[in-house]
Amino acid sequence: MSTAPLTGRRAYVTGGSRGIGAEIVRRLTTDGAAVAFTYSASSAHADKLVAELTADGAKVLAIQADAADREQSVAAVDRAAAELGGLDIVVNNAGAVYWAAVEDFPAEEFERLMAINIGGVFWTTRTAMKHLGDGARIVNIGSVNADRIPGPGLSVYGMTKGAVASFTRGLARDLGDRGITINNVQPGPIDTDMNPDEGDFAAIMKAVTTQGRYGSAADIAALVGFLAGPESGYITGATLNVDGGFTV
Ligand code: NDP
Repeated sequence: MSTAPLTGRRAYVTGGSRGIGAEIVRRLTTDGAAVAFTYSASSAHADKLVAELTADGAKVLAIQADAADREQSVAAVDRAAAELGGLDIVVNNAGAVYWAAVEDFPAEEFERLMAINIGGVFWTTRTAMKHLGDGARIVNIGSVNADRIPGPGLSVYGMTKGAVASFTRGLARDLGDRGITINNVQPGPIDTDMNPDEGDFAAIMKAVTTQGRYGSAADIAALVGFLAGPESGYITGATLNVDGGFTV
């Protein structure tokens, strides 16, 4: 019988209660990792996921922490490391989107996107770095909108995800001598609460893919599971699209 590839590894996932993050939590626990994940608001989804995975025998911990808040981000990483006994895998998944033309973009929405999509990634990663051992893994969830914007209103969101891609490249250099890899997974249209398959913008999104359809959160989690695992050690600083051909 083969051993699950992440047995004994300790993982931290931001925004793990719903959508892509929840599927990443499922994948990492299925692969044998103990997982701590954050959520921002109501604990209902987080509690349900913990109950589901605990019943399957996994070690899972949910932590309320707003990724827009530096102190909460830092405290949540430190708490996860304390409760799991260290960290080996970090997945920066929490993110927010707001559609508006630049001239109409509300100041508070601009600040919120910067705080979650850039600040949250920075403070989580910076705090986690002191807990990570040699050979650890960091995976950021960016977006294909860093590279391609299919219609108006997404320039600010795209800007934040472009920052994630640049940060990933720089940090790969900073962490190379510790054998720590960091990669940027860019989803195309994935059916979640953020981007529902039947939502207002679904037709535009589908038209840009090669297959005319949305992907699933499991499509993203599969690549994250591989990048978190033992066979991906020579992949670092990379941006990898899981997008149904959205960017071709
Ligand atoms: P959802 O909105 O469906 O889920 C977001 C998750 O993140 C929830 O668990 C939510 O928790 C949590 N979250 C949201 N805001 C915060 C915050 N401030 N602090 C902590 N947790 C937070 O999003 P998706 O699953 O669709 O997106 C996940 C990532 O993938 C994001 O970074 C997004 O930009 C990216 N992405 C998504 C695409 C898509 O088509 N879906 C395409 C490209 C990129 P809670 O339940 O508490 O709200």
